[in-house]
Amino acid sequence: MSLDDLYREVILAHYKRPHNHGELPGADIAIEGKNPACGDELKLQLKLSEGKVSEVRFSGHGCAISQSSASMMTDQLKGKTLDEAFQLAEDFKSMIRGERKAQMPGDLEALRGVTKFPVRVKCATLAWSTLQYAISEQRTSGRLATGYVER
Ligand code: ZN
Repeated sequence: MSLDDLYREVILAHYKRPHNHGELPGADIAIEGKNPACGDELKLQLKLSEGKVSEVRFSGHGCAISQSSASMMTDQLKGKTLDEAFQLAEDFKSMIRGERKAQMPGDLEALRGVTKFPVRVKCATLAWSTLQYAISEQRTSGRLATGYVER
């Protein structure tokens, strides 16, 4: 099995059986993200405790890249501060843009191949941009953003 095949398996496994999938009642952050170019939609919910992400869930629909990227992201967020989560999103997006060569944690490395398909980049970054938007809106205005659209 080639590395590409292995990565395809990892992506499809997250798509078919997404991790941390569902609703999170009483979430501190709840935001919907959309990527109109592909029709990807997702809802991201986080609970915070002592400044760290204590629980995270997502739901949504769309292509395998968008949904598996969200599933992989939720695997990485628990226990992180919002600053750390924001930075991980930054690292992930630079990997997808082909700028970051360093190894990414968990299954995230499986999405590196998206670099070769510019049309799918927004699918891969949707969950991460949505997360970053929620965090930066809370920082700058203190209010909770409810929606983000990838353009
Ligand atoms: Zn997509």
